[in-house]
Amino acid sequence: MERVYIGLGSNLADPAEQLRSALNALAQLASSELVRVSSFYSSDSLLPGQPRFTNAVAALNTDLDPLTLLDALQAIELEQGRERHERWGPRTLDLDIILFGDRVIDEPRLKVPHYHLQARAFVLYPLAELAPHLQLADGRTLDQLLSDCPFVGLERL
Ligand code: AMP
Repeated sequence: MERVYIGLGSNLADPAEQLRSALNALAQLASSELVRVSSFYSSDSLLPGQPRFTNAVAALNTDLDPLTLLDALQAIELEQGRERHERWGPRTLDLDIILFGDRVIDEPRLKVPHYHLQARAFVLYPLAELAPHLQLADGRTLDQLLSDCPFVGLERL
């Protein structure tokens, strides 16, 4: 099994409930085991005037290959009625593969580590709860990324 970290986000339709129901779906994924979930965080939307997001990170052990896992995450997003009208716009549920073991994946549908990882406090701080000593394949530590990414606009719920 490989250890995967999944970022969850929602800013519509009772975000905390969206995250809880996504976590239930993750717990039922085939060939996978939901290991731990971070606290929930509230974060400023990247676009002004939008509702705040609720975010969390989940640790999953899985035997699924990365694209099969991505398919499963997108099916969960669809099932929860995700509607998207604009990039970074409001969404009922966003599930991202943040890290997949030590793998570096560069495929049209899937880039891992996720591009949000380095600069997004709402990914880094919940991830640090689950894996404080994490080191990326390129040698950077989570501590280094955190020191470049202040805890701004974020509230631990
Ligand atoms: P987003 O706006 O983050 O929800 O982007 C969704 C699109 O990003 C999907 O069509 C995915 O194929 C693509 N994508 C690329 N890398 C990833 C990743 N690490 N996790 C989830 N989706 C990804």
